[in-house]
Amino acid sequence: MSEQGEQQVNEQGHLVIDGADTVALVKKYQTPLVVYDVTAIRQQIRRFKKVFEANHVKYAVSYASKAFATIAMFQLVNQEGAHIDVVSGGELYTAIKAGFPLEKVSFHGNNKSLAELEMAVSHHIGVIVVDNFHEIALLNQVLEAQDETINVLLRLTPGVSAHTHEYDQTGQEDSKFGFDIRSGQAEQALQMVLQNPRMHMQGIHAHIGSQIFEVEGFVLAAEKLVDLAADWQQKFHYEPEVLNVGGGFGIKYTEADDPIAPEAFVDAIVKAVQTRTAEHQLKMPAIWIEPGRSIVGPAGYNLYTIGSRKDVPGLRPYVTVDGGMGDNIRPALYQAEYEAILANKATEQPQETVRIAGKYCESGDILIQKQALPQSQPGDILAMKATGAYGYAMASNYNRNPRPAVVFVEQGNAKLVVQRESYEDLVHLDRSFV
Ligand SMILES: *Cc1c(COP(=O)(O)O)cnc(C)c1O
Repeated sequence: MSEQGEQQVNEQGHLVIDGADTVALVKKYQTPLVVYDVTAIRQQIRRFKKVFEANHVKYAVSYASKAFATIAMFQLVNQEGAHIDVVSGGELYTAIKAGFPLEKVSFHGNNKSLAELEMAVSHHIGVIVVDNFHEIALLNQVLEAQDETINVLLRLTPGVSAHTHEYDQTGQEDSKFGFDIRSGQAEQALQMVLQNPRMHMQGIHAHIGSQIFEVEGFVLAAEKLVDLAADWQQKFHYEPEVLNVGGGFGIKYTEADDPIAPEAFVDAIVKAVQTRTAEHQLKMPAIWIEPGRSIVGPAGYNLYTIGSRKDVPGLRPYVTVDGGMGDNIRPALYQAEYEAILANKATEQPQETVRIAGKYCESGDILIQKQALPQSQPGDILAMKATGAYGYAMASNYNRNPRPAVVFVEQGNAKLVVQRESYEDLVHLDRSFV
């Protein structure tokens, strides 16, 4: 396994991922190929957990599975004793298929359907993170129909916005997510849940954004949640058992990114909650976090084969790979930046700066605007780094390209965990018109 940033190369000059030669992987599984360093995923989950344990607080590390939700990933998360978040019936179904312990599942989303809530309740999942008043009514309907009870966290917008790309902000008041605190919506929701004998008001939740590089936002949000808990203790004699501060821990995509260690994030959050609850003389709640990107992002690589090249005098050359926005839409969607190397020439020095283009029929299908590379040829393998989060998870069949295969590698052993789509898969749901 390799630490974030540093990379391993074997004596043939090939990039190595968790003990496996990437050139050999490509030979066996073809490209485009998504490869995960399983050791890196395990280490990251353990680092988060360890800090809570060192601080002797009750906690849950809940992997935000929308970053990469497959049966194998859920099984790996379960091996590490972590929880998961799901945001749809499809993610929940995947967890069920994976044999994931459903009491460790939190269900998020700002428009859960009746069918999704029915599924969640009938499978006795751990907790529903209730987002809005419509959902309280729907959930009540489901609980009555099934004669069931369920744990509830209330998703709140604490009015804290993380300093990050604007598409990623969700904690501010003008957000589609959660109950607003300042206007009294949150308090109204609390009263509704407390009065509902089928809902157990387990605690409160806030998620302030994504790809965050400062601890301050988390500290501020945690303090606001504890202050709110103190207010609710006074007014309603209610104290949360769980304080969930969400995810959003930033990772290194390029040299320009300087992420904070998981230890620093968790430590700051734990200290803030401890200090503030002591000030208010509240019971110390369990602290839950929901890292997604930071668990799988740095551990993932997209491998492509280089094909055509376009040189226009005076302009940067275009080097095109056999994938693109269909397997990683983030650059086209929100100008996300990545770095890449030639996996089969990993020790060669860069000789030129190129633009890495995808094969999809969109001018915006550029994976990397500016990448220094050794001289490349058709057939070389390009490895894009830190693609493990929101890459395969957002993959599409645009241009009717099949989605890539996914391989888990651990200490040199490779395992195919998602098969490459076939052309037959692509037309599987089509029905003839004539
Ligand atoms: C997306 C999301 C996360 C995970 O965010 P990352 O940036 O991937 O860590 C956590 N909690 C909630 C509620 C989310 O919507």
